[in-house]
Amino acid sequence: LMGRMMSEPLLISSLLKHAERHSGDTEIVSKRVEGDLHRSNWREVARRSRQAAQAFARLGCQPGDRVGTLAWNGHRHLEIYYGTSGSGLVCHTVNPRLFPEQIVWIANDAEDRVLCFDATFLPLVEKVAPLMKSVQHFVLMTSRAHMPAASAIPGLLCFDDLLDAEDGDYTWPSFDENTASSICYTSGTTGNPKGAVYSHRSTVLHAYAAALPDAMDCSSRDVILPVVPMFHVNAWGLPYSAAIVGCKFVLPGPHLDGKSLYELFEAEKVSFSAGVPTVWLGLLNHVKANNLKFSTFKRTVIGGSACPPAMMKSLQEDFGVEVIHAWGMTEMSPLGTLSKLTTRQLGLPHEAQQRLLEKQGRVIYGVDMAVIDDEGRSLPWDGQSSGNLVVRGHWVISQYFKHDESPLVSVDGEPGWFPTGDVATIDPDGFMQITDRSKDVIKSGGEWISSIDLENIAMAHPAVHEAAAIAARHPKWDERPLLVVVRKPGASLTREEMLAFYEGRIAKWQIPDDVVFVEEIPHTATGKMQKLKLRDMLKDHRLP
Ligand code: ADP
Repeated sequence: LMGRMMSEPLLISSLLKHAERHSGDTEIVSKRVEGDLHRSNWREVARRSRQAAQAFARLGCQPGDRVGTLAWNGHRHLEIYYGTSGSGLVCHTVNPRLFPEQIVWIANDAEDRVLCFDATFLPLVEKVAPLMKSVQHFVLMTSRAHMPAASAIPGLLCFDDLLDAEDGDYTWPSFDENTASSICYTSGTTGNPKGAVYSHRSTVLHAYAAALPDAMDCSSRDVILPVVPMFHVNAWGLPYSAAIVGCKFVLPGPHLDGKSLYELFEAEKVSFSAGVPTVWLGLLNHVKANNLKFSTFKRTVIGGSACPPAMMKSLQEDFGVEVIHAWGMTEMSPLGTLSKLTTRQLGLPHEAQQRLLEKQGRVIYGVDMAVIDDEGRSLPWDGQSSGNLVVRGHWVISQYFKHDESPLVSVDGEPGWFPTGDVATIDPDGFMQITDRSKDVIKSGGEWISSIDLENIAMAHPAVHEAAAIAARHPKWDERPLLVVVRKPGASLTREEMLAFYEGRIAKWQIPDDVVFVEEIPHTATGKMQKLKLRDMLKDHRLP
């Protein structure tokens, strides 16, 4: 017997239609590259998204064509998100922090037909435009008044002009929910970047799940400001979840320093935000140095790298901001797990609760996970057995773009699991904890040392701004931990003081062998510490 219920394809356009109809007046506020604070709302964004869909069609785009973006978080980027996906095109967000050669490689691999970009990136695009073989139209995301008098890009188009030429009288088409909606490339720490191709179905299901109370807990009463860029895994799905709940959405543009963020949080009454740990370093430094408090900011999702417990503690205890630690990856759209306590756990002593919150958390419905050994056998959920973390689910990739081979592996003989490249434990309550990326783990005499554990301890020292633990070659142990530290401005800290700080906090044999102080730790285009580069920089470092 079949159910007798209506069946509608899960399309991204339906999210926008819902927000337009039910939250049309709710604001979308953008700090723009032009320097102004632009105020719009879901109705206006929906209209301009339809005009964008008409404009892309007029430029000759056909269903399935890729439209690239090099842009900050702003209303025009949001209009391109919906205008492309909604009309059957594929939104390809390119990370502008990558090297120009990588940007060219990615645009060529995706075969972008149109490239839309913020004025910040005009000099970059002028340089690389001749190398982007498939791009037929370059569109500057600005108004006529801000167009340059001349540009090295022949036929450079103005985004607002393109939209103004259309009437917005456009009906979103219906098509198979498994159609591609967007592409994001992994940052490719090893080899060339690979494209994850999301579908309308995977995106809508992810947005639903992400908004749930035990996940990001989004509501119409929230004011959401994604610090995580829209070029980094679709800002973790927030542009879609915000439409589902119809909340006010604040987009910070290129202004991501502590002062600018704080002022925008206060002025627009932001209640919820999300980003990688490094951005919170800047914000926390600013509020602490200036003795400020948040008046509306209540919770934040931190992920992309392990959130140092000291940062979590400071946000929670000094500023009353709830930190939800989350784990995910480009290949997972990105959300996999989030750390929220259950009723039983709320009865535990404070310290025990804290330790659970520091883990990466439980899966949301829609994702299934396991930890396995090198032979593909699943390991027990005892909080101790650590192994390779594998996942499967509605928003996990099955294949990379243009790669025919399957990346999937079997677990206990059952195929269809995606290997994340992370090493983790899972406790009896299902709380997963990442010990390391498999390529960052420090292998000392056959034993594994978690670089994340070592970094978390260092970050708890008041004189430490940032710390990375990497493997250094050792004649006897193969690898030994080397700690790389950036001191806080004006703080003094010696190698001996740093090492003494580890005493009693970790097993003796796991304490780093040496400490190197540097001015800055290199970060990847998505704000993660670049350990590969650090290892390379310090490859000749001799341990004492
Ligand atoms: P990249 O392209 O750098 O892989 P992703 O955003 O896809 O960018 O990175 C995913 C990886 O980031 C995960 O596999 C994991 O190693 C790391 N990661 C993400 N969130 C966390 C977290 N909360 N704690 C520890 N590591 C994390």
